[in-house]
Amino acid sequence: MVQGSVNLNTERGKEWLQDYVDNWVNFYQKQTDEGKVASYIPSLEHADPNALGISIIGKNGTIIRSGDTNVEFSIQSISKVLSFIVACMERGLTYVLQRVDVEPTGESFNSIMHLEINQPKKPFNPLVNSGAITVSSLLEGRTSDQKLEPLYQLLEKILGHRPEIDVDVYVSERDTSMRNRAIGYYLLEEGYLESDLSITLETYFKHCSLNVTLDDLAMIGLVLSNDGVHPNTDETLIPKQIARVAKSLMLTCGMYDASGKFASYVGIPAKSGVSGGILAVVPPRVRNQNLPFLEGCGIGVFGPALDKQGNSTAGIKLLRHIANQWDLSLF
Ligand code: GLN
Repeated sequence: MVQGSVNLNTERGKEWLQDYVDNWVNFYQKQTDEGKVASYIPSLEHADPNALGISIIGKNGTIIRSGDTNVEFSIQSISKVLSFIVACMERGLTYVLQRVDVEPTGESFNSIMHLEINQPKKPFNPLVNSGAITVSSLLEGRTSDQKLEPLYQLLEKILGHRPEIDVDVYVSERDTSMRNRAIGYYLLEEGYLESDLSITLETYFKHCSLNVTLDDLAMIGLVLSNDGVHPNTDETLIPKQIARVAKSLMLTCGMYDASGKFASYVGIPAKSGVSGGILAVVPPRVRNQNLPFLEGCGIGVFGPALDKQGNSTAGIKLLRHIANQWDLSLF
């Protein structure tokens, strides 16, 4: 165990945590070669495959940053958690869950096959492309900008700044994403979409292209860990029930077809994106020991070299290591 006799809430304790995380980031950075940067969205291909960084923000204000922390990257699939939350806040949880299921697929995130086999007929969950595209169609508003305004406002309240779209990434995905268009047409044919297909896809591509930093991801994670309440302002930004379902979905479906392994070996709600980001949520936990972040924390990880499932190779290893050493798992 990491803590020894150091009181983790003192300056010395924080230095100790920092050294600890630095060591392991250095260690796993050497393993980034095992993965490959996503190239099916051409603009993602420029990322540094050897980058690895982490930011951890605790409810008590402790911040640990390590590795490549000065990077901005597009949020990609992690935004699916946010679009789901906003759709539920606008339309109600029941309404949204009548249209999108909450079951893991066991298939890749952009699978079409699973759409044809799910009964009752609806996309498996809001964290795979078919579910997220359906959710984009449920967001209120006629244009993609109108649909996304409440999501931008939610992020502005969480982060303290308004997120911006990476236009290169947006255009790159919009102009190449035949697979998402195919999914979109299938959803249209089946009557799942509540908005025009082109507006729906534009909305989806835009929220995937939002630029974030590691601190941004950690702050989103912290608000979710705190049941939707911003720890600095005490404002409820997300109703608790919606935050709860979002976290359950992250735990069961957030890491694509590696979600079961991640839940078993890491044990915390998380959502990854193909740009290499991972958003992880550590809820408050009761442990009889001097362990870091017992009041809960949010974690952002960035490592663009991906494994076969599309998750950050080194990022998962780093999270797994820290979660095991700090006993972060829910169970
Ligand atoms: N925008 C990406 C896509 O639709 C998001 C996928 C991901 O991050 N897994 O393909």
